[in-house]
Amino acid sequence: MTRVGVLALQGAFVEHERVLERLGVEAREVRQRKHLEGIDGLIIPGGESTTIGKLLDTLEMTEPLRAMARDGLPVWGTCAGLILLASDVGRPQTTLGLLDIAVRRNAFGSQLDSFETDLEVPALGAEPFHAVFIRAPIIERAGDDVTRLATLPHGTIVAAERGNLLATAFHPELTADPRFHQYFLEKVAARGNEGAASPELVAVGERT
Ligand code: GLN
Repeated sequence: MTRVGVLALQGAFVEHERVLERLGVEAREVRQRKHLEGIDGLIIPGGESTTIGKLLDTLEMTEPLRAMARDGLPVWGTCAGLILLASDVGRPQTTLGLLDIAVRRNAFGSQLDSFETDLEVPALGAEPFHAVFIRAPIIERAGDDVTRLATLPHGTIVAAERGNLLATAFHPELTADPRFHQYFLEKVAARGNEGAASPELVAVGERT
């Protein structure tokens, strides 16, 4: 059975677990480094990116996670999770720096703290995706190898991917529409089909 880790240090991780379970996938809460062993993918949830980053450092999970993602582990960051994937946040805070994007945190300001809108996401099909934004970041710049999956009407990028990495500025786990989770699970399945066990997974396991 496919087992997807959900980083459970802070934030909206339970909601992701529920969606994964509804899709017939085992959800594993990742709270310590040893929980990274044996996962087929990882979701980094929304929450507070500075807090999650500090906890990753304290728990000595930043480097192992970076190495696993570089080795091909599918990783999906939602909202704060997107910030944690970014290479450029414009201020000193721990990120994994895996995706060549420049991010602006809390980009919609206090007047528009939270909002919902229907997004065109061609990768998910013709039906728009109802997106919930909560103190959301935006992607101000994306590298040439980063694919834009969704933009707001004025062109701001709010979902992107590159290879095994997926990033959404909004919260698909808070709606009943499972298509983003299914999209991520396709990345997980694609990697599983490669068949090779990751040496990094073994290394993480041995250290615990
Ligand atoms: N504002 C948060 C941050 O900058 C992200 C908010 C969220 O994840 N819903 O980390």
